[in-house]
Amino acid sequence: MNIILLGAPGAGKGTQAVVLSQKLSLAHIASGDLFRQAQNSGTELGNTAKSYMEKGLLVPDEITVKMVLERISEPDCANGFILDGFPRNLEQAKALEKVLNDKGQGIDKVVYIKVPEEELVRRLAGRRICRNCQTPYHVTDMPPKVEGKCDRCGGELYQRPDDKEETVRSRIKVYSEETAPLVDYYRKAGKLLEVDGAQGAKKVTNELVDALT
Ligand code: AMP
Repeated sequence: MNIILLGAPGAGKGTQAVVLSQKLSLAHIASGDLFRQAQNSGTELGNTAKSYMEKGLLVPDEITVKMVLERISEPDCANGFILDGFPRNLEQAKALEKVLNDKGQGIDKVVYIKVPEEELVRRLAGRRICRNCQTPYHVTDMPPKVEGKCDRCGGELYQRPDDKEETVRSRIKVYSEETAPLVDYYRKAGKLLEVDGAQGAKKVTNELVDALT
């Protein structure tokens, strides 16, 4: 099964992807995490991506598409994957479709996690991420057992620089203009599974597991 998670920044894509990938035994591919890993390794890809990410803009398609398509051709994706943060515009969606079609595969479901804008801003401002395994937390909604430390691996929690309010507003604007049209695109293709992301994370997971299994 190949799944796309669609939703604005802060909708809970990362949180759901971590749990769903375990429950459904699918590889979890987060384009933003791939860019952050490239930055930490100091590669050219990482340096190029950084200048866009800092401003809350999309990294150009030719760079992003190549990176994600290479990743999904790795062996751990052969039994299915969850894409988190990709595609983010129609060009990326079409490039993905073409490569999967050529392999005789396709996208089975597109999960759209819907959350009102003010709630997105509140969530992103309180979001903290594990530097080591990228598990997301929230200072009040989903705090770690020990402050500043990841429950899963003990890694240090940090606030992403692009989770500061000003950058968050640009990221939401970019989402509305470039990514939101994909909701209709996949609805018309009969693949959309819409879920109310304003309810608690556990309820969202239960709804999705019921619908996907
Ligand atoms: P995320 O972790 O998904 O919120 O992504 C963080 C940042 O990485 C975004 O604001 C973009 O700058 C960049 N990025 C992640 N995925 C994509 C994508 N599919 N297309 C272009 N840029 C992306």
